[in-house]
Amino acid sequence: MRWAGQAVNGSTDTESENALPGLARLDTFVRTVRTPDFDGVTFHEVLAKSALNKVPKSSSMPFDWTINPMRGCLHRCTYCFARGTHEYLGLDSGDDFDRQIVVKVNVVDVLAAELGRPSWRRERVALGTNTDPYQRAEGRYRFMPGIIAALAASGTPLSLLTKGTLLRRDLPLLSEAAQQVPVDIATSIAIFDDELQQSVEPGTPTASARLASITAAAELGLRPTVFLMPVLPRLTDSREHLDYALSRIAAAGASRVVYGTLHLRPGAREWFMQWLGQRHPELVPYYRSLYSRRSYAPVEYRSELAARIAPLLKKHRLSKQDAAQTRPAGRRPSPGPAASATPRAARSTGLIAAEMPALAARAIMQPTLF
Ligand code: SF4
Repeated sequence: MRWAGQAVNGSTDTESENALPGLARLDTFVRTVRTPDFDGVTFHEVLAKSALNKVPKSSSMPFDWTINPMRGCLHRCTYCFARGTHEYLGLDSGDDFDRQIVVKVNVVDVLAAELGRPSWRRERVALGTNTDPYQRAEGRYRFMPGIIAALAASGTPLSLLTKGTLLRRDLPLLSEAAQQVPVDIATSIAIFDDELQQSVEPGTPTASARLASITAAAELGLRPTVFLMPVLPRLTDSREHLDYALSRIAAAGASRVVYGTLHLRPGAREWFMQWLGQRHPELVPYYRSLYSRRSYAPVEYRSELAARIAPLLKKHRLSKQDAAQTRPAGRRPSPGPAASATPRAARSTGLIAAEMPALAARAIMQPTLF
C-alpha cells in the first residue's frame, strides 16, 4: 500500500521516537517523521477511517461534506480558530498547531472507496474548512490531485478555500474538473500590508502571490472568490486599507468578495491576544472591549464596517451578484443523485459580498480559513 513504509522524500526523512502519546496508542498510527525540507515541523502520519465528514443539516453551511487531509497548519495564522481542535489530540493550540501536523496518508484511497458507494448522493464537498488543503505540506504529500480527480469522476461538486499558492499547481486539473462538476475556488486574503501580514500570518504567501493565483484561476474561467477575512479592527479596517484591498482584488480578476470581521474563540483568542500584546499593546484594551465576552465583534462594530465597505464594493464593481453569475464555468452535473446538491449549493450565493460570521456561528464544524 502507498502509505506503508512511505518515503515521500526519499532518504531525507527521519523517523522519530517522539510520537505523540495519544496518537501512538492508536491502531491507525503509522509513524512520526521529520524532514530537512520542513525545519522544525513534525509530521504524524495516521490512517484515516473515513475521508468525508458530514456537516450537520442544522449548520446552514453551503456544503454538505468536508474533507480535511491534515490537522494543524503551517500557515500559522495567529487568529486561526481551528487552533482549539488541536487540543482534542493532546496537543496545544499554539506552537503545536503550527508545527505538529497530523497527516491522513490514506485519504485519497479512503475517499475513492466512499465515493464509490451506491449510497453516495454526490452532495457538495468542501475543502479548507478546518485546515488549509494547500498548506506547504501538500507539496510533500500531494493529496489534492487525487482528491479533485476522485470527486470529479464521481460527479461530486466541490468547493475549496485556501491561502496557499500551491493551488496554482492544480488549476489545470480544477479547470478540467469544472467541465464535469460545479467547482468553486476561493482564496482568503485579508491583509494588504506585507509587514503586518507576515507578522499575523507568518507561514502564508504574500497578498500579491495569492492575487496571482486568483488571476491564474480567472484566466482559466474558474470565477474565483476572495475572502476578505478577517478584517482586523483598527489594523485593517480603515477606509484606505479596504479601498486598496478591493482595488487589488478587482484588478486580479476575482468574481466575488466575501468579507468578515475577526472572530476570536477560545484557542485562537489566547494566541492572538499574545501576538497583539507584543506587536500592538496600545490596542489590547480596545480588543478586550470588543471580544471580552464574545467570540464575534459586537453588532455595532460590524454594522459600521458594513456601512464603510458597501460603497467600496460598489466602486470596485464587486457588489452582490445573482445566483446564475456565481456558478463556475463548466456544465452542470447530469440529472440524478448529484441534483440533490443544487438547493443547498445555491444558498452559497447569499454569502456574496456579505459578511460571514453569523453564518459561521451557526456551524458546528469550523470554517477556519479567515
Ligand atoms: S486560518 Fe486557515 S490558513 Fe491560517 S492557520 Fe488556520 S487553517 Fe491555516
